[in-house]
Amino acid sequence: MDFEYTYSPEQLAFKAEVEQWLDENVPADKRKVGAEELPADLFDWAREFTKKLGAKGWLHPDYPTEYGGGGLSPEETIVITSALEERDVPMTPGNTLDLPALAVWGTEEQKQKYLRGRLTGELISYQNFTEPNSGSDLASLRTRAKKDGDEWVITGEKVFVSGSHGQGRPRTPDYLFTLAITDPDAPRHRNMGYFLVPTADDGVTLQPQGLLGGNGQNQVYMDDVRIGEDRLIGGAGQGWQVAQTTLEHEHGGRGDLPPKNRIIGNFLDWVKAEDAADEHTQHAAVDAFIDTEILRLIGTRNHWMYEAKQEMSYHGSQNSLWRKEGNIRVADDIREVAGLKTLLAEGEPEEAGSKGELEYFQRSSLVGAHPGGTIEVQKVIIARRIGVSRTKERAAPTPSTAKITS
Ligand SMILES: Cc1cc2nc3c(=O)[nH]c(=O)nc-3n(C[C@H](O)[C@H](O)[C@H](O)COP(=O)(O)OP(=O)(O)OC[C@H]3O[C@@H](n4cnc5c(N)ncnc54)[C@H](O)[C@@H]3O)c2cc1C
Repeated sequence: MDFEYTYSPEQLAFKAEVEQWLDENVPADKRKVGAEELPADLFDWAREFTKKLGAKGWLHPDYPTEYGGGGLSPEETIVITSALEERDVPMTPGNTLDLPALAVWGTEEQKQKYLRGRLTGELISYQNFTEPNSGSDLASLRTRAKKDGDEWVITGEKVFVSGSHGQGRPRTPDYLFTLAITDPDAPRHRNMGYFLVPTADDGVTLQPQGLLGGNGQNQVYMDDVRIGEDRLIGGAGQGWQVAQTTLEHEHGGRGDLPPKNRIIGNFLDWVKAEDAADEHTQHAAVDAFIDTEILRLIGTRNHWMYEAKQEMSYHGSQNSLWRKEGNIRVADDIREVAGLKTLLAEGEPEEAGSKGELEYFQRSSLVGAHPGGTIEVQKVIIARRIGVSRTKERAAPTPSTAKITS
């Protein structure tokens, strides 16, 4: 059976159009460098380019045009995302996980105000969920939202909030999509709201955290931040349900096409260049290739299911689990073959020749076990959804199943 995805004649014609536009709008020197935060000047270029792409409807091609998306088909979307990935075009790093929640739960007015800005690339947001004592057990969070007249007053502390505006720069997203307890007396999962907290407001402080995987995470402090009712997405007790729409996507429920793996590509090139003829090296290289190929196929299947509006259950978490465990296995394979060179950063003598990407991968594969639910949490979700757990759980609505995207 051939698992390769091949373009139809219509897709090939559209690809030519996309390539031409990229030729005209992406200078040859604008490429992702390394894997950590973008240098400040490249971030500025990426920010403007992202908006240009948004204005054309190609930033989120398959979202409806009435909210700032491109209204394009899944087939056209694949062509655009592939072309951008193939060229390693730097884009504004940021979170897209609030998009499905806004599409499913936002009022018409909220969609015009927030979803449109996000789909056109004008607005940037970070995910503001995890707290120092609430990670896997997210529902135990303590951040409080109190109603005061027409406003909500939010106080609390969050950690591991991802996002950066270029190396050494202050973090200035437009808003933080935030979970906060609205009614401490209400039952668990019915006691919180999903708020868009603007960072320009007094009382919001973002402090960079230096993690093993780089400097792109932040500690966030919110001190009596006053926001209007129109920044509450869903009802005051529905935040947990709204957050599930975000998390469903974060767990891989939208699939991932085309999941090109630069690390494995560079690694295989390196093995070929070294002319490694010994069997051990070849086995490790092939193991790493198979691991990433399986991830590609799971991602492709999920993408097809999402676009075909199939009901998803364990599929997203299966993708996430394979990615998290697979990356750790692949990092081990790479270290076995390339040895200590893979632990040397860019610029150090004898570095493996990957511009520091292999060294970064050794660190990020470990850190990557946590975002969006740990390895153990993905297993718990899969067990619940295939019915071998004490409790059962259904997938949350996504734009696809709710028939909101084209
Ligand atoms: C690089 C990075 C980026 C992140 N980005 C964001 C972001 O943008 N926004 C955001 O809100 N959060 C973000 N996070 C936070 C992430 O979601 C949490 O780290 C994750 O949910 C785990 O929470 P925790 O770190 O508190 O670990 P804990 O929940 O304390 O877990 C510790 C260990 O116990 C295990 N464990 C916990 N509960 C169970 C259980 N029931 N069964 C079995 N084992 C269990 C876990 O698997 C883990 O190994 C990020 C984290 C990282 C590392």
